[in-house]
Amino acid sequence: MRDTDGYFELLTILEVPKDKRVRCQYRGCLHPIYKQIHIIRHASGAISCIGSKCYSLLKESHALTAVTAPLLGDRSSVRLTEEEISLLASNTEELIKRFSSAPELEEIKNCKVGSSQLRNDKALKARALELTRQKFMTKGIDPDLPGWKGWFEREVKELYEQLKKSQ
Ligand SMILES: [Zn+2]
Repeated sequence: MRDTDGYFELLTILEVPKDKRVRCQYRGCLHPIYKQIHIIRHASGAISCIGSKCYSLLKESHALTAVTAPLLGDRSSVRLTEEEISLLASNTEELIKRFSSAPELEEIKNCKVGSSQLRNDKALKARALELTRQKFMTKGIDPDLPGWKGWFEREVKELYEQLKKSQ
């Protein structure tokens, strides 16, 4: 997995029943894992599942860039549905997409925005852009580089929605 040489971010930690175990995808490890499955996202946007031992190895070799708290929270105590378990093995990207889409966003889409809030909209967008850029730069990541752009734009959008909601 050439990808592990770049930056990565820990998305979440999952657990599945032993008979639904998956394979660790770290550098040809292929060890069966079912507890503390670390889902990480590489610089390229690729997502992989790795065991806790391999995660420690990965973290050691990326001491300066690794973020230790999972972005989407630790879900190892949350029971996954059958569908989610099969997605983990077949389409981890899709599973992560489900975890990242907050139900609150639907509420925002459905409610009418007042005119004073509309005037603030541009300012909010600019603020979200600025804060997210700062966050990336602090991690030593240039959000304009290919491979980061999609992720950066997603995070800006998420933050913008949050700011909008907190108004
Ligand atoms: Zn492993």
